Amino acid sequence: MCCFTAGVDRQERRIFMNGGMMDLHRLIARAGLRPPRVVTIVVTKGCNLSCVHCWTESPAHGTVPPVPVDTLKRVIRAFSLLPGVEEIWLTGGEPLTHPDWFELLSFTCRRSGLKGVRLQTNATLLTGAHVEALASMECRGLTVQVSLEGATARTNDRVRGEGSFERVLQALKLLARAGMGPQVVVEFTEMEHNFGELPDLLFLLKGLRIERLVSGTLVQGGRAAGTPQVAPPRPTQYVEILDLYCSDPRFRSLYQRLGNIAAIEWFRGKAFPASRVCTCVERPYINGDGKIYPCLMLPVDGLAVPGVHHRPLEEVLMEALPIWAELPRLSRRRSLELKACRDCPGRRHCAGGCMGRTYAATGDFMNVEDRCELRRAVYTWEAPQKSGPATPRQLTESGGQR
Ligand code: SF4
Ligand code: SF4
Repeated sequence: MCCFTAGVDRQERRIFMNGGMMDLHRLIARAGLRPPRVVTIVVTKGCNLSCVHCWTESPAHGTVPPVPVDTLKRVIRAFSLLPGVEEIWLTGGEPLTHPDWFELLSFTCRRSGLKGVRLQTNATLLTGAHVEALASMECRGLTVQVSLEGATARTNDRVRGEGSFERVLQALKLLARAGMGPQVVVEFTEMEHNFGELPDLLFLLKGLRIERLVSGTLVQGGRAAGTPQVAPPRPTQYVEILDLYCSDPRFRSLYQRLGNIAAIEWFRGKAFPASRVCTCVERPYINGDGKIYPCLMLPVDGLAVPGVHHRPLEEVLMEALPIWAELPRLSRRRSLELKACRDCPGRRHCAGGCMGRTYAATGDFMNVEDRCELRRAVYTWEAPQKSGPATPRQLTESGGQR
């Protein structure tokens, strides 16, 4: 659990539970939606880097004003009082370019009822003094999410800019030295040019005493849509990592401790139905202009409601509800009607994939996901009998579910 302040927060929560917020929670459930659980809030649009694949197309910091700290505190307070909200993630742009980022983080960590608080950062501005301050907060629910796109400077810096690899490495060392290794998660965007370094990156992180790596396929939206410099991985690369997972016990054991790589997780999960392909409004996203979207992966104007920065949250959510109520129906329609999925061995698990990714890549919800070819390669792959555990179930059982 995160840090707790008693008194005031509990009283505020009771007031809301007896009135608007509790009713709102019921209305959300009645609309067939899972209520917000993890809320991502942009604290500033600006960023000190200019990554070639930036999904949010963040402008240089200093060219846009950060969201005022009092506005953000009001939004954070309102969400933390909404029944069902477990985590608040602070993001950007780069949150560390916000002059009051540490005050905001401390404030969020002190909200009662939250199980987790996440700081999503590129870590290039993180200093020894920052890390000391983070460690001294003693907020057990705090996670520092750090972006890194390779196990070498050449691979990472091609995307994130010269010198960024070394700066991130320094930050990771500082965090580990301060005993925060278990609270750090490294986020890796899978691309054609860096995918082959994923195993090396796992070993590098183990050496640094960083305990989690999560990877996901590049979305060809945002800045990535307009550049030939980056491309998603090829299906053969996904198959290669499955080969490695099945044939190399050392890699498998390390992966089971630290890793979460899409190809491997799809393979391990393909025997199980996907009950949560689309989380719809479970993970809402508030952008730097105060618009709320049902999900970070669904930055579609028709699904957004403005005014989170200055209107009561109940009012904004009441306006969003009828718009968002269409999403579960749309998700079901996709799983039933997409012709390409009918004969697919991964249909139970994938069901057409993520609606947001589909829309970002094609501008149409009624298409298969942009990773369809990659997914099919995984779902049709079979481990050679001699190379180790042969089925997803065996791999899951031998490895244990994380
Ligand atoms: S660090 Fe993040 S927000 Fe900044 S440019 Fe890179 S991807 Fe965009
Ligand atoms: S892998 Fe492609 S064809 Fe198969 S269910 Fe997913 S989107 Fe449909």
